[in-house]
Amino acid sequence: MNPIKQIAGTVNKVRDLSPTAREYTIRPDNPFPFVAGTFVNLFVTHEGEVIRRAFSISSNDDNNLEFTLSIRLSPDGKLTPIMWSKNMIGEKVKIMGPLGLNTVDRIQSNKIFLFGFGIGAGVVKSLAEHIVNNRQELESLTIVTGNRSASEILHKDFFDNLAEKNEKVSVKYVVSDKKEPHGHPTGYIQEHINTYDFNDSDIYICGQSIACVDLEEKIKLTKPRNSHFLIEDFH
Ligand SMILES: Cc1cc2nc3c(=O)[nH]c(=O)nc-3n(C[C@H](O)[C@H](O)[C@H](O)COP(=O)(O)OP(=O)(O)OC[C@H]3O[C@@H](n4cnc5c(N)ncnc54)[C@H](O)[C@@H]3O)c2cc1C
Repeated sequence: MNPIKQIAGTVNKVRDLSPTAREYTIRPDNPFPFVAGTFVNLFVTHEGEVIRRAFSISSNDDNNLEFTLSIRLSPDGKLTPIMWSKNMIGEKVKIMGPLGLNTVDRIQSNKIFLFGFGIGAGVVKSLAEHIVNNRQELESLTIVTGNRSASEILHKDFFDNLAEKNEKVSVKYVVSDKKEPHGHPTGYIQEHINTYDFNDSDIYICGQSIACVDLEEKIKLTKPRNSHFLIEDFH
């Protein structure tokens, strides 16, 4: 495990991922080793007040010179509206981390499911990249993300590319919007798991508590043998 550090850094880049999500690239002042699955506490100073929030790292853990955070706007929240309204490029921030227990080294099986609800797709991206690059014994990696609408599907190009280049990787985007035709499975992730065999697998689930709990319960109803759950809850 990498030691927890509290260091300064700078926001280097910001790009839109969807109408409500952005990717922030942070360059720490010193190398910042982390493993996929970890999160950081980000400290942003606004009008003299320091605001702290947790964000999962969404980039590849082979680069310790910079990392990305995939962040969704909470319109009624405190920090994210500030991040949306001000030009964050060049902003000095503090980072505490890496933190968290649901790291890629705890995913041991060669049959892996990664489920990401909403902005949880960010940490799934980091985990998937690590697994594909480092697990020669991999049998299958199944990635499923849950999204409010087709325009809110995050990191689609990245996941499509990963699946195209690796026959062991499959990806599915579930969209809850029932009004607009979008060509994706419709509803919640838990309504689209019937075809999966969860026996002897590691199952990683990330997102809001209520969604994580519901999906875990639905999977457990299938009575999988020798399956191991890792739940990263964005409470
Ligand atoms: C381990 C972990 C990892 C996370 N990773 C990510 C990530 O990768 N990406 C990401 O976008 N988010 C992530 N989060 C969530 C993130 O930390 C923030 O909570 C989120 O960005 C909202 O921050 P905010 O300051 O804008 O909103 P907040 O001020 O925290 O408010 C969030 C919501 O709660 C409501 N609220 C606030 N106070 C109250 C109250 N007293 N009563 C009722 N409702 C209230 C607000 O109206 C708003 O809708 C993670 C959280 C955890 C714990």
